[in-house]
Amino acid sequence: MPSWKDNVDVIVHEGKISVPYSWTVGSTLSRFYCELRDNGKIWGNRCPSCGKVFVPPKIKCIDCYEDLHDWIALPGTGTVETYTVVRYEEPVLHPRKAPFVYAVIKMDGADTGLVHIIGGVDPEQVRVGMRVEAVFEAKREGNILDIKHFRPMK
Ligand SMILES: [Zn+2]
Repeated sequence: MPSWKDNVDVIVHEGKISVPYSWTVGSTLSRFYCELRDNGKIWGNRCPSCGKVFVPPKIKCIDCYEDLHDWIALPGTGTVETYTVVRYEEPVLHPRKAPFVYAVIKMDGADTGLVHIIGGVDPEQVRVGMRVEAVFEAKREGNILDIKHFRPMK
């Protein structure tokens, strides 16, 4: 049965909505961010049951559901497991001007990946398996961008 909708062009309007908000990150991530801010150190936590080390730290092990209270300082080095080159500008969402690289970094001493920016290198030179080290901002505020980026190790 024909409908009046069959011959109507679909019109799409594009818009953006700014939604400012704030929230508590909780005690576990607060400790993680305080260590970044105050000491320039990346900490993770270890499951007492399976031994898995999480960074960023978690409240409970995602496999065992054990509470995670065993904190360990990580050396700040790791390996790029995967990455993408961001090539479009989005000043509200992106922390850097394009092009830049987001990567999943498996931190040395941890079993999980940390998503962060790869800097100090041409985006086209980033590779899976690249060894990287954390570079901290001189002025830190207690958030994930206290790590300025990860750069290739020499
Ligand atoms: Zn576990």
